[in-house]
Amino acid sequence: MEVRNVVIMGSGPAGLTAALYSSRANLNPLCFEGVHAGGQLMTTTDVENYPGFPQGILGPALMEDMRKQAARFGTELLRKDVEAVDFSRRPFKVRADGQDYYARAVIITTGASPRHLGLSNEMKLTGHGVSTCATCDGAFFRGEDLAVVGGGDSAIEEATFLTRFARSVQLIHRRAQLRASKIMQDRAFNTPKLSFIWNTVVTGIFDDDKKVTGIQIQNQESKKEQRLDIGGLFVAIGHVPNTQLFAGQIELDGQGYIVTKNGSSATSVDGVFAGGDCVDHVYRQAVTAAGMGCAASMDAERWLAAHEHELKPAKGVETGATSASRSS
Ligand code: NAP
Repeated sequence: MEVRNVVIMGSGPAGLTAALYSSRANLNPLCFEGVHAGGQLMTTTDVENYPGFPQGILGPALMEDMRKQAARFGTELLRKDVEAVDFSRRPFKVRADGQDYYARAVIITTGASPRHLGLSNEMKLTGHGVSTCATCDGAFFRGEDLAVVGGGDSAIEEATFLTRFARSVQLIHRRAQLRASKIMQDRAFNTPKLSFIWNTVVTGIFDDDKKVTGIQIQNQESKKEQRLDIGGLFVAIGHVPNTQLFAGQIELDGQGYIVTKNGSSATSVDGVFAGGDCVDHVYRQAVTAAGMGCAASMDAERWLAAHEHELKPAKGVETGATSASRSS
């Protein structure tokens, strides 16, 4: 049985930064990238707020560079989804593609996924007029009338962006006040082609078997329903952390985010660390996720060094790496 020093789950900015630091610390990490590797930046176009790229960089290109950088120092990357974990005994067990892997320390960087409205045909129509990513899909909706659902920064950002392509954009929000920051609100209220429908929810989506043709909306005060003819519906109502796998194994908060201790990346299980959007519901930026991945790697490295004698492999157990000594 091979026991790795560090197993990392996830390959967004947090996971690949954890992999970079862990590999440079000679921990020989194994990183489960997931089948859809690269995280949320894979579904963006220009990233203009990642420091070091004054002209901006395409999201997938940034992720490819991070991947190469992690691999350069010896990270083993596997394009597999983790199916189950067992943190109840040591070494920790991680199951992927029907195979068991063992680790002394684990770093969870599984990110978050867009939240859906929960309408019956919403998933079927995703990619056929329903989208959770304006930057990915906006250009397909040139000249169309569009609707965006949500009242946070994401919804405003998406709606404002979509006005570049659309004939009109209506932002539908379930309350009468936006949650978005003041600066984003000001920008939105001054954007031609963008209008607002307040106190309203989407209760249905119409389609012609190929693509979206309209939506049913309901005013929350009058309960009146009406049809809105649109060619595309953009859902921007926040994200859910990808942590279902860890329920019952480590502490999660009421919304499913991983709880970390004392401003560190340590979770409720000694030796399991976490960072990025599966922990952070406040900042949710590529650069903050990368920083958290770095912190998780350094915490794991220090933890391994402090517990080296307890974690020594038993006879007949292969070790995946050298000792957890510091290098930087
Ligand atoms: P968010 O701030 O959680 O906003 C989600 C919005 O969706 C809220 O307005 C919420 O309504 C609404 N909503 C939630 N569930 C709904 C449902 N089932 N039906 C209808 N509406 C629903 O999420 P976010 O906009 O994705 O932003 C997340 C974080 O990322 C924030 O910290 C934000 O500042 C940051 N962010 C920053 C930028 C930027 O600075 N450029 C861009 C994007 C995101 P209520 O208001 O009624 O709760």
